[in-house]
Amino acid sequence: MRAGGPTDTVPTAPLPDATILGYPRIGPDRELKRAVEAHWRGRLDEAGLRRAAAELRTATRARLRSLGLTGASAVPADFTYYDQVLQVTTAFGALPERFADLRGGALSADGSSGDYPGTSLDGYFTVARGRGEDAALEMTKWLDSNYHYLVPEIDERTVLDYVPGFGAVDPADGPVAQVLEAARAGEQVPRPVVVGPVTYLLLAKPSDAAADGFALTDRLADLLAAYGHLLADLWAAGAEWVQFDEPALVSDAWSLPREEVLRLVHDVYTWVAAITERPQVLVAGSYGSLGDALPVLASTGVDGVALDLVAGGLPSAEDLAGLAGRSVVAGVVSGRNVWRTDLDAALTALESLRERLPEDARLSVGTSTSLQHVPHDVERETDLDPAIRSWLAFADQKVAEVQVLARGLAEGRDAVAEELAEDARLRAERAAHPGVARAGVRDAVAALTGADRTRAPYEERRAAQTERFHLPLLPTTTIGSFPQTAEIRRDRAAHRRGELDDAGYEQAMHAEIERVVRLQEELGLDVLVHGEAERNDMVQYFAELLDGFVTTQHGWVQSYGSRCTRPSILWGDVARPAPMTVAWSQYAQSLTDKPVKGMLTGPVTIMAWSFVRDDVPRSLVADELGLALREEVADLESAGIGIIQVDEPAIRETLPLRLADRESYLTWSVGSFRLATGGAAPATQVHTHLCYSEFDVVIDAVDHLDADVTSIEASRSRMDILPAVAEHGFERQLGPGVWDIHSPRVPSTDECAELLERAVAALGIERLWANPDCGLKTRAYEETVESLRHLVDAAHRVRAEN
Ligand code: GLN
Ligand code: ZN
Repeated sequence: MRAGGPTDTVPTAPLPDATILGYPRIGPDRELKRAVEAHWRGRLDEAGLRRAAAELRTATRARLRSLGLTGASAVPADFTYYDQVLQVTTAFGALPERFADLRGGALSADGSSGDYPGTSLDGYFTVARGRGEDAALEMTKWLDSNYHYLVPEIDERTVLDYVPGFGAVDPADGPVAQVLEAARAGEQVPRPVVVGPVTYLLLAKPSDAAADGFALTDRLADLLAAYGHLLADLWAAGAEWVQFDEPALVSDAWSLPREEVLRLVHDVYTWVAAITERPQVLVAGSYGSLGDALPVLASTGVDGVALDLVAGGLPSAEDLAGLAGRSVVAGVVSGRNVWRTDLDAALTALESLRERLPEDARLSVGTSTSLQHVPHDVERETDLDPAIRSWLAFADQKVAEVQVLARGLAEGRDAVAEELAEDARLRAERAAHPGVARAGVRDAVAALTGADRTRAPYEERRAAQTERFHLPLLPTTTIGSFPQTAEIRRDRAAHRRGELDDAGYEQAMHAEIERVVRLQEELGLDVLVHGEAERNDMVQYFAELLDGFVTTQHGWVQSYGSRCTRPSILWGDVARPAPMTVAWSQYAQSLTDKPVKGMLTGPVTIMAWSFVRDDVPRSLVADELGLALREEVADLESAGIGIIQVDEPAIRETLPLRLADRESYLTWSVGSFRLATGGAAPATQVHTHLCYSEFDVVIDAVDHLDADVTSIEASRSRMDILPAVAEHGFERQLGPGVWDIHSPRVPSTDECAELLERAVAALGIERLWANPDCGLKTRAYEETVESLRHLVDAAHRVRAEN
């Protein structure tokens, strides 16, 4: 049965000296996205999709070999069509009740018994995307990255099963299928990558059907049995190593107390190690330091550990002592940023680690995380300033770096003297580049005082604003963007290509702004917006107008499923050469007597959705952005814009994974927002907007933002968060969303009114606003107009009744 080797026990082949923990799955030209979306639209059948995916995987393995990852187990097999957590969920049949019909049967077509727990490929996509009333699995951020995974929903009855042999016929081409595919092609065996059992449990949530008192850990035995069968299947397919990704171990912000997490780690890996028919197990602790989980892992029989030495520090000799005889992958090349690795510093870290490790531990060089967070190849960025390009390393360049470092470690620094010298030269060039450190910007940041981050007391502001705006109780507004129609996109694209000149573009955008302003007047909204038609993206728009950023041509990374983003690269000190939004806002305001809200993206969100420089602390970058935005706020005020919204939807998502790191993060992130808004006059009303729920986690920080009005996502949870807001003592104005803009569904007036009544009951009407959950750019006008009409009617009704 076992194809790969002569043994009938755990294989013993060592890990290669250089490896990566994972590689972008989307393809250099987003081949996977294109094929998957063509399949969804019915233009590519399942066989065609699977063929396209197989070609992409084959090309990826060949590429990695040609880049030098040649040994057995050097190349990761981490492909999945949509999400790596979903891959485990569907392989184990762990579908919530609403998708129970998608389990098993699909395979009976090819003669299998039908009791396989897994799904068909279309079942896999259905769970990811939902169907009719059956909501998709919830999507949420993967650790502190911009990748989103699908949250498993588990209860007492959820199937958690895996039938050996399934991998060979898995229609979702999971890890076993990928090992077999490489074997069939006569290639070196790759190293399958699977989300590990502890992380799978910690990332899951109890399903709605779970009984009170149900704990996810109640299902540990079933989960382990499924993983055990999967291991046997991988072993039978010939895998020498399997990588279990256990990033959850680097965080202590789970509802399970740390001691219980550690006990779980101990139990799970003691159990795994006792299996005899399995590949060797490499446990990868990416996105931070394993901390006290490292000695616990070492106390089990796992064969290897991968350490993130970029986000986490060097472990102590004491914590490393238990790793005698094991493999250690030292993640010194960042899988998160786009910068060349400081080869000298990385070699020093590797040498120190080698000194601290027990003698017979085997050290390999690797990436800190999967490279799924970075684009493929910087060589393709031919439009980039060559100086800036020479400082960058995308996935392919990082593959080369791990090998240089492995050589330096094995053969000594002399063996890589040329590479070290070249890196030092580029590093010196970068440091000396005039845009990297602008004296004016650095001086301005150094001169900041607390006063720059402090507005007049809220009561004073409230009085000045009441007098200025005469807003009714429960004022109505939107979050900023209006639907981005095909015409808007067409005009923007034509302008970008030079086919529409500046005057024509301005005319088109003015026409759109006028349309949106008239519509809002007709709907009876109280505070209007210009609609953001000119913005391709709320971060990139600003990145293109600020000094210190570059944008790429091919720098796509997966955000979720088939969705990719192309983050800008923040490489230098930030400066604002000219106003960025003033003309559009001013034009909108010229059309109406109602206040038009200016619209900016906050410093933390601009940073979170870009690739940020690695040569200065993030707090400095945040303040530089804060200063640039502060100038914009001043110019908006001078242009007569009295209400200014600074969006910070990302403040929650970059929250550190370790509780102990949160306070300092919140201090500088909140500080940068206060810098951006701190110059605003008392009569200027500052709004902020946050979404992606979990408001409760950051409520204290949001309070410190000191915005006059905060809008949040609240409709899906039916305002459940508001009693906590009241209890917290959050005193300023709040706009809890009453319309879930993530779906085309139109909420009725009654529904909106009921949510508003709930909000009034929790917080009182005096400080409430009525608005949707988020911007409307992804919605169509059809549902937008009707929904906003209902929202305004509901506000009127609730106003009259209170
Ligand atoms: N002002 C932005 C918009 O309306 C806010 C988007 C967001 O929070 N993600 O589109
Ligand atoms: Zn939002």
